[in-house]
Parts: sequence; structure tokens; C-alpha cells
Amino acid sequence: MGSESYYDVLGIPRNATETDIKKAYRNLAKKYHPDVCKEPGAEEKFKSINEAYSILSDETKRRQYDQLGHDNFTNASKGNYSGSGGAGFNADFSGFGDIFDFFGGGGRRQSGPQEGDDLLMRIQITLEDAVFGAQKEIEVMHTESCPDCEGTGSSTKKTVKCSKCNGTGQIKQVKNSIFGQMVTQSPCPECGGRGKIPESPCRKCNGTGRTKIRRKVTVNVPPGIDSGMRLRMEGYGEAGDFGAKNGDLYIEVYVISNPKFDREDDNLITQYEISPAQAVLGCEVEIETIDRKKVALKIPAGISYGTRLRIPGEGVRRRGNYGNLLVRVVIATPKKISPAERELYEQLLKAEGNPVHSSSSKSDEKDGRKKRGIFK
Ligand SMILES: [Zn+2]
Ligand SMILES: [Zn+2]
Repeated sequence: MGSESYYDVLGIPRNATETDIKKAYRNLAKKYHPDVCKEPGAEEKFKSINEAYSILSDETKRRQYDQLGHDNFTNASKGNYSGSGGAGFNADFSGFGDIFDFFGGGGRRQSGPQEGDDLLMRIQITLEDAVFGAQKEIEVMHTESCPDCEGTGSSTKKTVKCSKCNGTGQIKQVKNSIFGQMVTQSPCPECGGRGKIPESPCRKCNGTGRTKIRRKVTVNVPPGIDSGMRLRMEGYGEAGDFGAKNGDLYIEVYVISNPKFDREDDNLITQYEISPAQAVLGCEVEIETIDRKKVALKIPAGISYGTRLRIPGEGVRRRGNYGNLLVRVVIATPKKISPAERELYEQLLKAEGNPVHSSSSKSDEKDGRKKRGIFK
């Protein structure tokens, strides 16, 4: 599959509206529907039209697609298989090996070998991996062409025409009803719609041509990825029937929350605590970035609680664009202070013209009065 953008597939400009997208999709889907269009490659075309539409018609997915770019969005990598063994990435994924009917509505295939199913896997990555990109090794359980019979299902590697359906893969039934004769078609149970059966069933795969296998796959996670985005690895899904194309493997990414950084689009947000004195007088502090770099930050005098200060370029990096690191400044009131600090705070109160109560270390009775005073 080429790297034609989804906009090109639908023949629309990048700024197309929702209505434009729907219209373009409807016209093309009608034209290339496999039940209608007998042009070679129509089914492929129909599939890519559906794929493009499924992304561009979904506001969130479209934004992700625009942000990541076609290649990053659709293709995690052409990655390589590595045999079993070796240190693997301990992905903690649920939905392992779900069969995943992604684009649906691809039109029912009449005959011929069936392409393999797509698979969906979910992986969890850290925020650091999402920001910088990473290579992750995952284990995938899928079917592959049986090595013994090379996917033919036959120990002789030869297939013969199915006698039940005469090689058509379909069984026609004619029924008489009050509306006249009705012809129904269904896949041949003998050959499973393939039209061919193995000459001599392969022992390893019981004549199916496929074996279940667990493999390690390296996934290139591009920098800038976010939760819910899907990467596609072409051909890493289930094996196709009798040498037909494999399905694709989709990897849905979930970014684990980070104790220090939150993410808002391409910006990262971190929190920094300063004392009341620092807030009043201003200060210079050191902020740790996501790549553990120390960056000096000037906090201006008189800053308010919750103000966000911007450190440019220390956010999420995506396709050459750099987000910012936003530092949310919070003013922490000290719970314990030294006698010297107490003295200074009391002087401060006086200077402000506020009454100074004697320290809480005096009698309980006095404290009680003070409280009543407050709640009066
Ligand atoms: Zn048959
Ligand atoms: Zn076999």
C-alpha cells in the first residue's frame, strides 16, 4: 500500500469540512462498492476509501492524523521479527490478540482466497516514550502460513478443485416460494468458500494452511504519540488463506500518567511550589524537564497562586515542532516555622497594619476565644 494521504484517497483538500468529507465518501463508496464495481483493484480501493473515511470523519482521529502525519499515523514500522528469546518489552496489554473488524462493510467476497484478519493490540507506554518516541518489543500471537505446506494446507502443496461446489466456493439453493423462485447463495461448507481443498491434508495444520504462532515484534513508537492513537503494522495480522495477503496489526497506545508531568496537546505541565516570601519578592528556581535537564526559571515578584509560566520548547516534540513546558506556580504556606521566622511574620503583620495575636503556644483558653472570634 502506498503512502497516499487520506485526503488524496477521498480527493478532498486538507481543510475540507465535515460535509465535504461525507459527500466525497458517499460518491466514491458508491462508485467502488465491490458489488457494483468490477474493475480490478476496486475492492482495495473501496477498503482504502473506508479507511480514509473512518479516520477523517472522526474529529479526534482526524486531528491526530493531521498532527502525526500519514506515515506515522498509519505505519508503526515495517519492523522486524526476532525469534523467541531475548529480553522482551513487558507490555501490559489487555485485549491481547482481539480479532478486530476495523473497517467493516468491505463487501462480501464472492470467491477467491480470503485475506487475513486484522488484529488489534493495546500497549502501555510511559509519557517519556510518548514524548521522545521509542522502540518497543511486543509479543503477538497470530496465525502464519504453515511452514510445512507453505500455506496450501496440503502435504503435497497441491490443492484440488472442490467437488461439492465445483470450485466456485458457493452453494446455490433454489427455493420455491409464493414470490416465485428464490436463489440463495452461501459459502460452500466443504471448502469454506475457497473452491479448493488440499490434495492431502497437511498434518501440522490439519489442512487449514495456518499455524498459530507467538512472535516478538519491534514497534517504532513515533515521538508525539498520544493515548488512543493507533499504529499500523502492515502484514502483521492473521495469515491470509492459501497464500493470500496477511491482515494488519493495529497497536493502540495508552500513555500511563506521569507523577510529575501532565499533558495538554503538545504542552507538558508541571507544578512548582514556592514560599510566600518567594511569591512576594520573586525568585529564580530550577525546573527539571521531562528529559531530566535543569532549566532556570525566573518567577516574577508578586506572582499569583496558580500562574503558569512558560518554558519554550520543553514540551512534546512532534514532527519538528516543540511544545512548551508550562510551570504552574503554587504558593505553599509553611506549616512549621522557626521562632526567627515567626518574628518576621509578626513584623510583617504589624507593617500591614494587622493586629498580631500572641503565639498559639499560649493558653488553650485564649485559643478558644480566638476561634469564637473568627466564627462570630
Ligand atoms: Zn466447495
Ligand atoms: Zn500445513
